[in-house]
Amino acid sequence: MAKPKIGFIGLGIMGRPMSKHLINAGYELVVYDIVEASVNEITAAGASAAGSCKEVAEQADVIITMVPDSPDVEAAALGENGIIEGISEGNYYIDMSTIAPSVAVSVGEKMAEKGVLCLDGPVSGGDVGAQNATLSIMVGGEEDAFNTIKPIFDIMGNAVLCGPLGSGQIVKACNQVLVAVTIAGVSEALTLGTKAGVDPINIVKVLGGGLARCGVLENRGERMVNGDFDPGFRIRLHYKDLNIIMKTGNDYQVPLPVTSVVHELFNTAMVQGRSELDHSGLLTVLEDLAGIEARTKQ
Ligand code: NAD
Repeated sequence: MAKPKIGFIGLGIMGRPMSKHLINAGYELVVYDIVEASVNEITAAGASAAGSCKEVAEQADVIITMVPDSPDVEAAALGENGIIEGISEGNYYIDMSTIAPSVAVSVGEKMAEKGVLCLDGPVSGGDVGAQNATLSIMVGGEEDAFNTIKPIFDIMGNAVLCGPLGSGQIVKACNQVLVAVTIAGVSEALTLGTKAGVDPINIVKVLGGGLARCGVLENRGERMVNGDFDPGFRIRLHYKDLNIIMKTGNDYQVPLPVTSVVHELFNTAMVQGRSELDHSGLLTVLEDLAGIEARTKQ
């Protein structure tokens, strides 16, 4: 497909930089968001605006959504004035939000009834990955559709086809298990070491060189022991992902005993009003349990 016209719906922390990269790469974009200020920012960058998801779908060949959660995707794709009302047979619908794999499949089935080609393409790499166009894109769907859309994915990051529709969301759930459990483990290690008398910055430095080295220590360790929990990726969104993960474990009859404890720790952070902290702010929950703060004195 020579440069298709792209419809982009959901211009939040992730969608704004992602859509700007597509504009800068020379694609014609038509965009929609329920927040007008976000639309204005992207039209100023060169896109045109549509009045609804349906209108986006009427005007574009490839439609992308980047909205918060499963009900938002269902509303944008299948709701009143939704994509399905405007999209044409043979065009593409790609959801890049993080949602339940079962919803990715059910939305795809509805779209397939209209002859629409669907991919799920959730991402990891955060707001920085979106700004630098270095997102990891985990894709589910048919190989032909993936190959057609790959040049578009390449502008936003690095895409890997993981399997049939829904597989991208499954792999994203696996990613979020690992990140959440690692944040909890790092938080316990920092809390234990600090209460036992060690400056936690030394724990960050030394563990970063051995088998315990990990992305959480690398990217967040220093900020955690400095008490800097500005987001990044908010606790609220990681808790949403953990709800998806626990449901998916139930759907597939896979016990997730370790994740279930971490799920409750994130629930605790939510109940205690910490939803807007970066997810590394889970440290504060473990600190409260131990009755200390794991802060460096250096
Ligand atoms: P966000 O809340 O900043 O942006 C979502 C946007 O979608 C908002 O502008 C909202 O107005 C819009 N929206 C919601 N419903 C809509 C609808 N029906 N029609 C049109 N627009 C609608 O969220 P975000 O941080 O950009 O995250 C988007 C998705 O990407 C989420 O699923 C999130 O879990 C995932 N994600 C986020 C990050 C991150 O670091 N922020 C990293 C990886 C994945």
